[in-house]
Amino acid sequence: MKHYPMYINGKAVRTEQLLEVINPALGEPFAVVDTGLPEHVDAAVAAARAAFPAWSALPDAERKGLLHALAGTIERNMPELMELVTRENGKPMNGLNGIGSGMEIGGAVAWTHVTADFDLEPEVIQDNDVARIEVHRKALGVVASITPWNWPLLIAIWHVIPALRAGNTVVLKPSEYTPVATARFVELANEVLPAGVMNLVMGGPDVGAAIARHPDINKIVFTGSTRTGKRIMESAAASLKRLTLELGGNDAGIVLPDVDPKTVAPKLFGVGFHNNGQTCACLKRLYVHESIYDDVCAELARIASGVKVGDGMDPSTELGPLQNRAQLDIVTNLAADARERGGRFLSGGQRRAGKGYFFEPTIVAGLSNGARLVDEEQFGPILPVIKYKDIDEAVRLANDNPNGLGGSVWSNDLALAAEIGKRLECGNVWINDHGAVQPDAPFGGVKQSGIGVEFGKQGLEEFTTIQTVKIMKN
Ligand code: NAD
Repeated sequence: MKHYPMYINGKAVRTEQLLEVINPALGEPFAVVDTGLPEHVDAAVAAARAAFPAWSALPDAERKGLLHALAGTIERNMPELMELVTRENGKPMNGLNGIGSGMEIGGAVAWTHVTADFDLEPEVIQDNDVARIEVHRKALGVVASITPWNWPLLIAIWHVIPALRAGNTVVLKPSEYTPVATARFVELANEVLPAGVMNLVMGGPDVGAAIARHPDINKIVFTGSTRTGKRIMESAAASLKRLTLELGGNDAGIVLPDVDPKTVAPKLFGVGFHNNGQTCACLKRLYVHESIYDDVCAELARIASGVKVGDGMDPSTELGPLQNRAQLDIVTNLAADARERGGRFLSGGQRRAGKGYFFEPTIVAGLSNGARLVDEEQFGPILPVIKYKDIDEAVRLANDNPNGLGGSVWSNDLALAAEIGKRLECGNVWINDHGAVQPDAPFGGVKQSGIGVEFGKQGLEEFTTIQTVKIMKN
């Protein structure tokens, strides 16, 4: 099995604590990584701290140039990185609607280029005979990134590239379920960046907790579950670390009565099931008007039954396995609870026999708020479809959840849909789409889905602190 080390101060670091990484399509290990102890976190933070003065003082054009070079390195190594993502995460190389490892690595290249080109010009608030006031954006220092397993490399890119662009140095800790593509990326990055600018420590919650409480880290950018996000926030309080938290979601979509069920169903299925439902901003609860409810349900079930599920290395596979055994158990338990509450299973509903963590694409009708499958984030290929009578009821049900990541409204009346969308309690609203993100538009959650935003100029600013400079002229 190939072995992937940690990286501290530009050097590969091997340890005694090895972790086997499972391929979820087979339920068997395919690679092994070195994991760290709190002292490795100390060493990585010290390396990042030592590299910070020179990195943050580089002229903007040089930092931009190095990040563009890094994007080029990712692009040249795309086939290898795609395969590593598919093997560790299970997502197909191509995937449903082209959402797979190719998109993950292609997205990493695009995000790196676009983010490299953002500027952080000082803002002039006042400039008259009395004084000039400038607002500058300065790097924070050492930024730690803690990532989840669902988009392992792309989420790491979303964290570290704006951090570096703003002049910070980085300590990266990938999920213990999916550290491999990130480890290879950090190895490649260390061929481009100065030593100590990007460090990698691998391991599970213990290593994450050592990062969260480390006194010499200035900011943590975290994507993962709401529960872990709250723990990190508690630990971060001791040294007042800055935080960006991208946490769980339970996104609602509302389908208005004016749409054609046959036209809308493939789109709804795509945004609910790509990556096997394991995307923070997948459609996770679908509210459909009673006049078209049966037709939309029937179309969704027809599509779900025809999708090709299998090992993601097969280029024709549309949906892969769940990423890990625990997630498969969560989905299986939610399905059992839905069945007990009288949910009608219009497709799927079972684990697939044989190797790997596969669950059939599942459409469940007949539930409403109060059922666990509706109230809780399933993070898997099982979608509850809920009937509503009027828009006020649909908006109330959509907002009746502690999460607030995304929401969508589906209609031919774009103005009406946008008005309804603005009533949803979430950080991102899509009309006739769901979960689509791009590097220049801010994205983030409200309520318990997180704090702060990623992407765009607003996302970049989260990796800086403001310094206001007032120059008296008399
Ligand atoms: P998780 O919270 O279990 O783990 C995420 C990371 O946190 C891992 O690297 C893990 O090792 C680390 N960790 C665990 N305990 C820790 C602790 N006490 N201190 C510090 N670090 C710790 O999440 P997951 O299961 O990997 O990811 C799935 C969740 O992520 C879902 O809820 C999903 O909605 C959410 N998610 C959100 C977004 C978003 O942008 N909002 C994107 C992707 C995933």
